[in-house]
Amino acid sequence: ILEVHQLYRKFESGSKILTVVDDINFSIQEGISCAIVGPSGSGKTTLLGLCAGLDRPTSGSVSLNGIPLNPLNEDERAQVRNRHVGFVFQTFQLVPTLTAVENVMVPLELRGEATQEVRERAIELLTSVGLGDRTHHYPTQLSGGEQQRVAIARAFINQPKILFADEPTGNLDTETGQYIEKLIFDLNEQQGTTLVLVTHDLELAKKCDRIIRLRNGRIHEDSFAEQQPEAVAK
Ligand code: ATP
Repeated sequence: ILEVHQLYRKFESGSKILTVVDDINFSIQEGISCAIVGPSGSGKTTLLGLCAGLDRPTSGSVSLNGIPLNPLNEDERAQVRNRHVGFVFQTFQLVPTLTAVENVMVPLELRGEATQEVRERAIELLTSVGLGDRTHHYPTQLSGGEQQRVAIARAFINQPKILFADEPTGNLDTETGQYIEKLIFDLNEQQGTTLVLVTHDLELAKKCDRIIRLRNGRIHEDSFAEQQPEAVAK
């Protein structure tokens, strides 16, 4: 469902050129969960942004659900994201002027498809993440964990094939983090949504089917579930 080929992302920093993503190649099968781990600054978030079509590579290619992203312009990439991709970020990224249910509807609103049926599905999704009684609350009236649950409901409103999550539990206390974690993995298992997760949390990474470990923008190690104990020991 995700194919990454000879991917590079370089940034200019004064007179220097930083190679933040440095010849990355991998492909991810539909339905699996994959964690991207590595030290701070190793390029995890940059790589996720490239995979999700939020950013363009300096060179190399990404293909998402069989669609090569390179030839697409900004608007076309936004359409692909809207149709196929869900996002959950560390900082929730809800629209402050919209209620919970309106935030969940945003992806379909952008497609001009925000019907009454969509509103009902948004309420169902909010109920399934335990926020059935908070649908008309604004983000400031919700706790961090509740905001992240709204973000998860929003990520699933367009029934994405693939969910990209960047430190989804990073800003939450342990208990709330575990609840959010369970929600994400349940959706991965029950709906077969492919999960690509950037995390610092090795315990969380170990729950994934695959761990890609980055170091200095390169893949340092790529391990599948049965090999993980060894991988984590390193
Ligand atoms: P962390 O775990 O701390 O979030 P990360 O592994 O996700 O780190 P990235 O956020 O991908 O790392 O950043 C990798 C490197 O790229 C960092 O050194 C960062 O400063 C640099 N970088 C990222 N985006 C840009 C940009 N737009 N311009 C210049 N440098 C950038």
